[in-house]
Amino acid sequence: MLKFSEQQELVRKAARDFAENEIAPLAQKFDEEDICPVELFKETARLGFNGVFVPAEYGGAGLGCTEMAIILEETGRYSAGFAVSLVAHYMGTYAIMTWGTEEQKRKYLPALCSGSFGGFSLTEPGGGSDFSGQKTSARLADGKWVLNGRKCFITNSHCMDVNVVTARTGEDAEGRPQISVFIIEGNAPGHAPGRKEKKAGLRGSCTGDIVLNNVQLPQSCLLGKPGEGIKIALGTLSGMGRCGTAAVALGILRGCLEESVKFARNRVIYGKPLSKLTNIQFIIAQNRTDYEAARLMTYNAAGMRDAGMPCGAEMSMAKFFASEAAVNAARRTMELMGGYGVITDYPVSRYLRDAVSAIPACGTSHIMQIIIAENELKK
Ligand SMILES: Cc1cc2nc3c(=O)[nH]c(=O)nc-3n(C[C@H](O)[C@H](O)[C@H](O)COP(=O)(O)OP(=O)(O)OC[C@H]3O[C@@H](n4cnc5c(N)ncnc54)[C@H](O)[C@@H]3O)c2cc1C
Repeated sequence: MLKFSEQQELVRKAARDFAENEIAPLAQKFDEEDICPVELFKETARLGFNGVFVPAEYGGAGLGCTEMAIILEETGRYSAGFAVSLVAHYMGTYAIMTWGTEEQKRKYLPALCSGSFGGFSLTEPGGGSDFSGQKTSARLADGKWVLNGRKCFITNSHCMDVNVVTARTGEDAEGRPQISVFIIEGNAPGHAPGRKEKKAGLRGSCTGDIVLNNVQLPQSCLLGKPGEGIKIALGTLSGMGRCGTAAVALGILRGCLEESVKFARNRVIYGKPLSKLTNIQFIIAQNRTDYEAARLMTYNAAGMRDAGMPCGAEMSMAKFFASEAAVNAARRTMELMGGYGVITDYPVSRYLRDAVSAIPACGTSHIMQIIIAENELKK
C-alpha cells in the first residue's frame, strides 16, 4: 500500500493549491503562445519547490525524490510543459548536488534553489540515445577548458542561468570518446541559445539549441573527474530525470481521468448522462487503472531512490509505463468525448500532444525497454 508521510501530504497540498490557482488558469495560454512562464518559476522557488531535494545547508528544502515527484505530478496535472521545465532544472541541480565539490555546491545550489534556472545538456544532432555520437569538444589550453559544439533539444535553453553540459575531452585506450561534464553559467561568453524548437506538445517549456563557441572555463568548472561524463549523465537521468518525467506523465494521466469523469457526467445523450453507457465506463475504468499503476510504479521508484536502493530499472519502468499510458489515456479520453475531444477549448487534445512529446525526453521508450530487459537478463 502506498502511504505518504504527513510532510509529503503537506507538500502535495501546497503544490496542488499552487497548480490549481496559478497554473490551471494559464495552462492553455502557455500552450497556445508557447511561452515559458518564468515568473511562475520564481514562485515555485519561493514555495521551496526548486530545491526540494537539496540539503538545507545549500538553501534547499532537504526533502527527497518522492516530494519532487509529488510536485511534478501536481504541476504536470495542469501544465506538463511547465512541469518539464522543472524536471530539466532538477537534473542540472541534482548533478551539481551529487557530483559537485563543496565549492561548486556552495556557489551554485543556493541560487538554483531560489529562482535561477538550471538545465542539463547532453543531446546533440548526432547523439541523443547514442552518447558516443557527441561531438562537442572541450580541450585544455593555457590552463583553461575551451568548449565548442552545439547541443539540441535542450529544455530551458533560452532561460538557463546554470547549464550542466557534457563534452568530449579525449579518447580512451580503445578509442572510445572520453566524456566529461562542465558547469557553465548562462551568460558565459560564447555560451548562447540558438534555434528554439516549435514543439507539438510540452509547450510552456522552452526547448532549443545551445551553441558553445570558444567558451573558456576555469578548471574549477569541471564537474566530477575527467572521463566521468557517462557516469554522471546516466546517474542524473536514472536518478532524477526519468522519475521526474514519469511523474509529469502521471499528472497527464490524472488530467485524463478527471476530464473523462467530468465529461461523462455532464454530457447527456439519449436523455441520460454519457456515464450510463457501459463502453464509457470501460474507458473511465481503464484511465483509473492506468493512473493507479503509474502512480504505484512512480512513487515506488522514487521511494527506492530515497532509501538509497539501486533503482535504475524501476525508474525506467515507471517512465516507460507512465508516458505510454498517458498517450493511450489521452487518445481514449478524446474518443469518449466524441467530437468535443478534438475541440481545443477542452484540454484533452493538449494532453495527447504533451504525452507524445514526453516519450523521447530522458530516453525513448525503446531505450527504457532495453534498460529493463538488460537488467532482467543479467539476473
Ligand atoms: C521535450 C523534450 C525535451 C528534451 N530535453 C532535453 C534536455 O533538457 N537535455 C538533453 O540533453 N536532451 C533533451 N531532450 C532530448 C532527448 O533526450 C532525446 O530526444 C532522446 O534521448 C532521443 O534522442 P534522439 O532524439 O537523438 O533520437 P535517436 O536517438 O536518434 O532515436 C531515433 C529512434 O531510434 C531508436 N533507438 C535509438 N537507439 C536505439 C537502440 N540502441 N536500440 C533500439 N532503438 C534505438 C529510438 O528509440 C528512436 O525511436 C529532450 C527531448 C524532448 C522531446
